[in-house]
Amino acid sequence: MGQSITFKKADHLKEKPGSAKLGFGKLFTDYMFEMDYSTEKGWHDARIVPYGPIKLDPAATIFHYGQEVFEGLKAYRTEDKRVLLFRPDKNMARMNQSCDRLNIPKIDEKFVIKAIKKLVAIEEAWIPSEPGQSLYIRPFIIGTDAALGVHPSATYKLLIILSPVGAYFGNSMSPVKIYVEDEFVRAVKGGVGYAKTAGNYAASLKAQTKSEELGFDQVLWLDGVEHKYIEEVGSMNIFFKIDDEVWTPALNGSILPGVTRASVIELLKKWGIKVKEKKVSVNKLFKKAEKQKLKEVFGTGTAAVISPVGFLKWEDHVIKVANGKTGKLSQKLYDTITGIQSGKIEDKLGWTQ
Ligand code: PMP
Repeated sequence: MGQSITFKKADHLKEKPGSAKLGFGKLFTDYMFEMDYSTEKGWHDARIVPYGPIKLDPAATIFHYGQEVFEGLKAYRTEDKRVLLFRPDKNMARMNQSCDRLNIPKIDEKFVIKAIKKLVAIEEAWIPSEPGQSLYIRPFIIGTDAALGVHPSATYKLLIILSPVGAYFGNSMSPVKIYVEDEFVRAVKGGVGYAKTAGNYAASLKAQTKSEELGFDQVLWLDGVEHKYIEEVGSMNIFFKIDDEVWTPALNGSILPGVTRASVIELLKKWGIKVKEKKVSVNKLFKKAEKQKLKEVFGTGTAAVISPVGFLKWEDHVIKVANGKTGKLSQKLYDTITGIQSGKIEDKLGWTQ
């Protein structure tokens, strides 16, 4: 698939937003990448075209059976005006894992990274440069067959859209309040939890709304069978600092393998901190907190990088973590990863391109 990528120029370019209040995922750039799949031609017709609506048959598979996968990564502008992507190879490898689970034909990972780089280069002027701001990259694949039988689609579309986004927390991190969800579950072992696919997010909305109505920021998901073991939080992986060790739920098939999660584990190990990927029961966690052993809790994900947790509620029990403040380790991880992403810290790990 060493195919070329064609370019169609837009008649008009949009006005770029000011740097204040970009929010998340509400503004889109002038161009998008598009590529089609058919059984005869494979992935073909790679093109960068003006951003805009796409035409689909109302019977398209995506609308009825949700045959879809997506990814999320960012392009960062450094102080010396370079543009960096953070571990795009990891996102593309995960996209292919998701494709495999959703019965979608695999992509050529290197080619899609090339497409991302070309699109980002064309849209370079859209990359915001204030601290914490970046250009969010959303590649996704949808089944496009016009057919109501429950079958894998024979045709697909891969699109990549770009959105300038703001800092999640401004310059400082503010700890979030988490509600441990004991009724609804996000995913089950054997299901699609480890894949980045639309249905997982549709399934999460009701609990997220419930937690917001109760005055919380996000939901902590428990396992789908026993409702005992911690899985992840909102759309982030979760970590606990217990005395001098760090625990995170082991990847078990129902948890999304986060790129930030993998990076945090690598950094902690490099710093000589013991990391345990294990089954963590919510009961045990609250017991550790009672004994004053739970020192820090934080979520990890592309959007916020590190999101400290200040407060947890499970049934009638509540935990205030680190006095509701950002812990030292959470801050160090945040500073290190955002430092590498923004080019302020030398990337000795080869994470940026
Ligand atoms: N879990 C879920 C359910 C997510 O949607 C995300 C965001 N992709 C994550 C974890 C964190 O993954 P990453 O670090 O790759 O952004």
